[in-house]
Amino acid sequence: MNTSSPVVRRPTRRVMVGTVAVGGGAPVVVQSMTNTDTADVAGTVEQVFALWRAGSELVRLTVNTEEAARAVPVIREKLDALGCPVPLIGDFHFNGHRLVKAVPDCVAALGKLRINPGNVGRGAKKDEQFATLIEAAVQHGKAVRIGVNWGSLDQELLARMMDENGRQPQPLEPDQVMRHALITSALDSARRAEELGLAAERIILSCKLSGVQDLIKVYRDLAARSDYALHLGLTEAGMGSKGIVASTAALAILLQEGIGDTIRVSLTPQPGESRTTEVQVAQEILQCLGLRAFTPLVTACPGCGRTTSTVFQELAQRIQDWLRAQMPVWRDQYPGVESMNVAVMGCVVNGPGESKHANVGISLPGSNETPVAPVYVDGEKTVTLKGERIAEEFQAIVDDYVQRTYGRSR
Ligand code: SF4
Repeated sequence: MNTSSPVVRRPTRRVMVGTVAVGGGAPVVVQSMTNTDTADVAGTVEQVFALWRAGSELVRLTVNTEEAARAVPVIREKLDALGCPVPLIGDFHFNGHRLVKAVPDCVAALGKLRINPGNVGRGAKKDEQFATLIEAAVQHGKAVRIGVNWGSLDQELLARMMDENGRQPQPLEPDQVMRHALITSALDSARRAEELGLAAERIILSCKLSGVQDLIKVYRDLAARSDYALHLGLTEAGMGSKGIVASTAALAILLQEGIGDTIRVSLTPQPGESRTTEVQVAQEILQCLGLRAFTPLVTACPGCGRTTSTVFQELAQRIQDWLRAQMPVWRDQYPGVESMNVAVMGCVVNGPGESKHANVGISLPGSNETPVAPVYVDGEKTVTLKGERIAEEFQAIVDDYVQRTYGRSR
């Protein structure tokens, strides 16, 4: 597969979140968020570890109570003991100003604070409480994401902008004013944070909405008006295929335009579904765009009337699952393996052609075809498999290819 990308990344300031670089030309960073009670140390450590193992490079957790704030340094310690260095991001709302004062160790244990300008306080207290959070970040040398969300947009700002718009000779539509208010909230808050002593190189901005077209318009505008690093994500994307498709549609367009330095796919897990699905989807978006490579991808045809048994689907699934399961070990042992492409095709109509373009490819026999499966390695037919053990033998061929091609001693 050709993973080269024509994307020219928009220049932004580089922000260090712990040891992870965001923006300034660094690779687009994948992040996720826990859904455990942060005060439940064991449960949160387990989920952060799982998200990190799945490939999340930053993990956010909610800091909503003093118990949660006190748990954060303990969670950090336990993750370090497990050899999991992933930076943690604290999500503060409503009472964050009190928590950072009461539990400074919480701030010290974080890589970044996320502050929502719409939820830091009301009226006269808002500025003071925002300043307390920013000062805590400055004091501890931490980065801050100023994360505006249309579901919690600063209502005083929105009302003021709506009033001003109403007085214009040609007023904008209300949704245009709302989008402007989101951007104004983010940029005004960033300017205020800089006035309070937070360097621009410690600020990341986001303006999340749940509508794809609105999100694209807002981020294009935001990107044109500042050089802060940008966190990209469609908020409340939803469940299952709808959440995946909506997030992919929005993020792919913006990433293709070079907008976005870190991404999160905000999926609602289906009952029983792993939280790590959102990490996998984020990685696949970046990999399919050719922006990064994480795990060897399986190219598979959709199947048709020529594939009347489930052998073909089972092999494609088995190989994709196996490749993904190998990555925690392969990542260090076989550098470059993440760019490998494996083709599993249902019959000889397109099978050999697609197999030749992959690093390793197999064409299974379609209905009424001779029950043999030609295998191609780097474009050359090397063997024809047959019998009951085609899956095992093909897996062994891929394993051998990985060792020969990506082994350090090659
Ligand atoms: S490769 Fe064969 S089985 Fe797969 S979709 Fe095409 S014709 Fe159908």
